[in-house]
Amino acid sequence: MRKPFLAGNWKMYKTLAEAKALVAELRASLDKDPVSREVLVAPPFTALASVAEALRGSGIHVAGQTMHSEKEGAFTGEIAPAQLKDAGASHVLLGHSERRQLFGETDEGVGKKARAAFDNGLVPITCIGETLAERESDQMFAVLERQLERALRQLSPEEAAIAVVAYEPVWAIGTGKVATPAQAQEVHAFIRKQVAKSHGEGVAAAQRILYGGSVKPDNIDGLMSESDIDGALVGGACLKAESFLRIVRFN
Ligand code: PEP
Repeated sequence: MRKPFLAGNWKMYKTLAEAKALVAELRASLDKDPVSREVLVAPPFTALASVAEALRGSGIHVAGQTMHSEKEGAFTGEIAPAQLKDAGASHVLLGHSERRQLFGETDEGVGKKARAAFDNGLVPITCIGETLAERESDQMFAVLERQLERALRQLSPEEAAIAVVAYEPVWAIGTGKVATPAQAQEVHAFIRKQVAKSHGEGVAAAQRILYGGSVKPDNIDGLMSESDIDGALVGGACLKAESFLRIVRFN
């Protein structure tokens, strides 16, 4: 009942010309041979409007990689929810571990942004995940529980059912060290149980939980065979059409 969701986070890569070339390839392939899966790209802000325009009518969603929670104001370098929407985004990534670790994002701030996303017609894809030190010192479940609770606490059950959560173990992002399907499944089942406690069984059954962390064409099939893994948030492997399309077309 949960439609698979494959999302590509372009991070700080791609000029405008490169961005347009990549989405043209993705669109051509998916127009020719459509998939009954949700597909999303999160380009840098500079390419957002052009990418959204190039994908109009294709069914491929476009997301911002972050945003501010305020409506507008004197926040140099930031972007407002309504500006993302205006540029053609339907979704927004929130709380990516690079934002948390390098730019000081907090659990509370991420929760506020999730609220602001819905208030502006955007669907949040909120990232949570433990560091290696937290996993090795048995704090993993406590960390995930806290991050998840803050991310969803301001959402109604209806919103929480639509919101997407991405489990991204920090030790697996950009390192080539992917969680095994069993490791990821264990955490996804835990997340779903927590959502059932906070927002009800129906919400937990509907919510898509994506895995992220070194997802590649050669490991996506194993990950997607797990019952609680509903899709993937892909970094490095989404920068080339061929590898992202292979992930989108997982078996
Ligand atoms: C990410 O940026 O969310 C990510 C998972 O990156 P990578 O696939 O490169 O590990």
